[in-house]
Amino acid sequence: MHEMSLCEGMVQILEEQARVQNYRRVKQVWLEVGALAGVEVAALRFCFDVVCRGTLAEGAILHVLETPGQGWCMACSRAVVVERRFDPCPECGSHQVQVTGGEEMRIKELEVE
Ligand SMILES: [Zn+2]
Repeated sequence: MHEMSLCEGMVQILEEQARVQNYRRVKQVWLEVGALAGVEVAALRFCFDVVCRGTLAEGAILHVLETPGQGWCMACSRAVVVERRFDPCPECGSHQVQVTGGEEMRIKELEVE
């Protein structure tokens, strides 16, 4: 499962940060997930719980903030919201839409102790 490796990567980051920032436990994680990141939030939550077991983030609360996908329509020369990859432009129906944002997943904030 794709979400499993994403969570493993995330826990790795948390452990590296723990050494740098000198914390022992992660209590809450705010994660920003782009609508076009190809991440299923329910699967992500499940994997997060599984992967965090036995780590410094065991029992941490995961908050998922979904950010909309962004694109640039070349036909109307303006920024548009892209709900799904390869969707046509919501304004003119053109498929000449370049994705410009919403593909990323990043840790936005942490509560640690
Ligand atoms: Zn357009």
